[in-house]
Amino acid sequence: MVAVLRIRGFALPEGEPVDLYADGDRWTSDPVAGAELVAEGWILPGLVDAHTHPGAETPGQPLDVAVLREDLRAHLDSGVTLIRAPGLAGDPPEWFGQADESPRAVHAGPWIAQHGQFMEGWGRRPELTDLPAVAAEQAARTGWAKVVIDWRPDDDVVPVGVLREAVTRVHAVGGRLAVHSQHAAGGMAAVEAGVDSVEHGMGLNPDLLPRMAEQGIALTPTLSVITASLAAITADPERARSSWYVPGASAHARLTAAAVEAGVTVLAGTDSRPHGGIAHEIRALVAAGVSPHEALAAASWTARSYLGLPGLVDGAPADAVVFDVDPRTDLSQLDKPRAVIVRGKAIR
Ligand SMILES: [Zn+2]
Repeated sequence: MVAVLRIRGFALPEGEPVDLYADGDRWTSDPVAGAELVAEGWILPGLVDAHTHPGAETPGQPLDVAVLREDLRAHLDSGVTLIRAPGLAGDPPEWFGQADESPRAVHAGPWIAQHGQFMEGWGRRPELTDLPAVAAEQAARTGWAKVVIDWRPDDDVVPVGVLREAVTRVHAVGGRLAVHSQHAAGGMAAVEAGVDSVEHGMGLNPDLLPRMAEQGIALTPTLSVITASLAAITADPERARSSWYVPGASAHARLTAAAVEAGVTVLAGTDSRPHGGIAHEIRALVAAGVSPHEALAAASWTARSYLGLPGLVDGAPADAVVFDVDPRTDLSQLDKPRAVIVRGKAIR
């Protein structure tokens, strides 16, 4: 017989005392005789990586199930109990997001992009006239569609009218639309069209932030990967001078902090290999001036709520990550979770 697992401590975001028992995949505060106390400390309802593409070693490669397993294991080890994959190298296997070796997962299937844009070998490339239908069909399947609406600086942005139609059709099937944008024009089109989430958002005009907050458009800044790319470019002054990337990337930390300030739903996402790097993203948010509380919210309870899961309450899915010390006062805690629990099972 499997012992019922119990955790005790202070639950974020409020920090109230909790004593929880995993009744299968549900938390309950009703004591269960013989339950096994697996950890005590500061408890989050699991970390969330809201922008990750597990399952391919390098851009353009097909989905590799062995790589996918390793990537998901790395997420779990880092305390991530829920991921959103806004774009995958292929349709994932049945067990994705469900088996013991996988965090919970929502995904948008393969990316949707324009001809001549995005990573060679990845994604589907419908004609613009078909794009709304293709997005809706994807969202009907998995709840999300992801459209790469801009790419290089001189590439055409998906027109606002097409995007608006995609939003309408995706919403009509109960789905949500995420868009990749790394230029001002793309960010403008995304907000005009009323998409559900802007991924990266580099170069986004900060004047649009209040409108995003009002319309509930989330921003996943993928700040750590953009900051790392910027550092690599600026290490070579010659390259830095001619790179379109530098202005947007240089402003990105400021933009991210301003988005939090404006009340935009900001989601933590790593967008990079190696997987399991959510702690880097949380630290990047804090380095940008976001409070540790808000940075953790972006990587935990706010992201979970945005993706439809409640926090540490009776009846909630039995996920948690437990730290010895309040991670808001000591970010180094993020590197050493005391326990990670997914679906009522301790995986670490
Ligand atoms: Zn991405």
